[in-house]
Amino acid sequence: MATDHPLEKTTPADAVPGAPADLVRFDRVVKRFGDHTVLDRLDFAVQRGEHVTLIGPSGSGKTTILRLLMTLERVSDGVIWVDGRPLSHMPGPDGGLKPASEKHLREIRKKIGMVFQQFNLFPNMNVLRNITEAPVSVLKVERAEAEERARELLELVGLADKAGAHPTQLSGGQQQRVAIARALAMRPEILLLDEVTSALDPELVAGVLDLLREIAHTTDITMLCVTHEMNFARDISDQVMMFDSGKVIESGSPEKIFGDPDHERTRAFLSAVL
Ligand code: ADP
Repeated sequence: MATDHPLEKTTPADAVPGAPADLVRFDRVVKRFGDHTVLDRLDFAVQRGEHVTLIGPSGSGKTTILRLLMTLERVSDGVIWVDGRPLSHMPGPDGGLKPASEKHLREIRKKIGMVFQQFNLFPNMNVLRNITEAPVSVLKVERAEAEERARELLELVGLADKAGAHPTQLSGGQQQRVAIARALAMRPEILLLDEVTSALDPELVAGVLDLLREIAHTTDITMLCVTHEMNFARDISDQVMMFDSGKVIESGSPEKIFGDPDHERTRAFLSAVL
């Protein structure tokens, strides 16, 4: 039912026996675009409630990872697991696996919210409608209930007075706050943040990062975050993964990665961006 608590710890009915217990697991994931291998047998896991930051040079595959999780792209090989379900397959009638249906993907997608670099608000809808659209049409929440929740979220993101505004009447920072509220309105278990401050004017960046810090520190939502904001990454991360050419070259606590990285490549990257 739509109002189920999003963080309820139950075993999903369509979980596959023997599936990993991690909330997210990439298992030898390969992603190719034509003959360009962007991710090369990538393995990593994210635990429930963990905040993971993906750092590394442009073109190293970070955004592709978020897009695969959001099912905006399909893997070329390997398996992505979300809460015990493979993204590419689902349990078949004989106990084996069959290719994932759209319905299976939709069910998994409900667990995941994404905030994009370019906000991607619906331009023809006001702020309130942007936030309530998916809860009403996808989760089948009553409109009045969705609006009440949307107003709470607008309060949280500091835009209580903008419910009736259209996206074009808002600054970039305000639009991104609405996009964050819209993602949270779906009560996601996992929030994907893809360079959410890169398109903002510099003076608007700190406010959005402070909001995300607050969300990270006051909710149980699992976060996967691609960012070039290293201080932010240091503040919110349980785990930092350093990517290069579609591989994790090292991962660890922010203290380890920012303070004493093992790899020369990580040191070079950090000295270029810090
Ligand atoms: P990052 O987020 O680390 O900057 P991306 O995941 O955006 O890296 O991109 C990794 C590589 O994949 C880049 O070389 C990019 O050009 C390529 N790529 C990403 N999406 C596509 C696509 N839809 N078609 C072709 N190449 C793509």
